Amino acid sequence: MNGNFRVGNLFGIPFYLNISWFIVLALVTLNFGTGLAAQFPGLGGSAIALGLVTGLLMFASVLLHELGHSFAAIQRGIKVNSITLFLFGGLANLDDEAKSPSGAFWIAVAGPLVSLALFIALTLVAGSGLLTGPMAAIAGLLAYINLILATFNMIPGLPLDGGNVLRAIVWKLSGNQYKGTRWASRVGQVIGWTAVSFGILGTLGISNIGSFWTLIIGWFLLQNAGRSAQSATLQEALSGLTAADAVVSESPIVDANVTLREFADMAILANNKTQWQRFLVKDENDQLLGSIRLNTLQAVPSYEWSNQLVRHFATPVSEENQVESNQSLLDVIGKLEQQKTQAIAVIRDNGTLVGLLEKSNIINLLQKRSQTQIQSA
Ligand SMILES: [Zn+2]
Repeated sequence: MNGNFRVGNLFGIPFYLNISWFIVLALVTLNFGTGLAAQFPGLGGSAIALGLVTGLLMFASVLLHELGHSFAAIQRGIKVNSITLFLFGGLANLDDEAKSPSGAFWIAVAGPLVSLALFIALTLVAGSGLLTGPMAAIAGLLAYINLILATFNMIPGLPLDGGNVLRAIVWKLSGNQYKGTRWASRVGQVIGWTAVSFGILGTLGISNIGSFWTLIIGWFLLQNAGRSAQSATLQEALSGLTAADAVVSESPIVDANVTLREFADMAILANNKTQWQRFLVKDENDQLLGSIRLNTLQAVPSYEWSNQLVRHFATPVSEENQVESNQSLLDVIGKLEQQKTQAIAVIRDNGTLVGLLEKSNIINLLQKRSQTQIQSA
């Protein structure tokens, strides 16, 4: 997310604040502050300070909710990459998804359970008579906020926690993880559109339910639900495929011990079909030695081509630009995205070169796969 500030670590989890958080804090402080000032005229200027404290405690509630998810994930051996507070609340970024429906269920439900526990505790405190005046009012307000956090998040559409709960249940019942995600995303989209519609009607003054805020939240839900649906479809299509499946059938590979002259001839032949600008270089043991660009030839006078070997012009291929042939295609896509590259070298675990994998080839592979699925159906 853009505009995130690292604040520090919480139980070893990097903790970030998004710039939008400060805007919300200012609004919340003002809102709570004026509310307290109206309720307790004796407070004077300290009402706004109490408003700020309430705002901070509200964000602490969100943070505890996210820590609930995080601890449930850590308990299941899943690393938590970060916790971020932003405009719409909090986000615990997990390194991996739960391996089982029950794991997914408990990670999803842990946040709302924390909020529910805080609601009960704060309600008891507010009603106990231990606190009086503004303090009791603040405790009551925070109890209400935690109740909203627990219930709003349990709406059963992705990306909300309730969506993840629904996903886990469908996953458990159908045995298909992706089906769970698709269902929960679709419900999320329905909820998103409903919120957007009410938001528009409310903003235009046609309906009493909904406001500009509802519109924004609906839009946020729609964006995220759509994204989960897409990634579930993609993940399902890619499941079971490895890097080896997407290797270009006539990969641009040249032997290290051929001369530049032979390389030039070979490149002309190869480029009848595809315009390769870069060739992978393999040694006598089929190991990846590096790569050579076609324009290397321009840098060497053509009368020298018969005397020079390709190996002397090969530049190493970095670790980031290689994948093992048995790696899942989903991981490979992640790597291509990370490296912002279109192609990557594929090698076996013993280091022998398999060939070149191109992004476009993955798309071809998926198209072929969906066609066979349609045919077999
Ligand atoms: Zn949550």
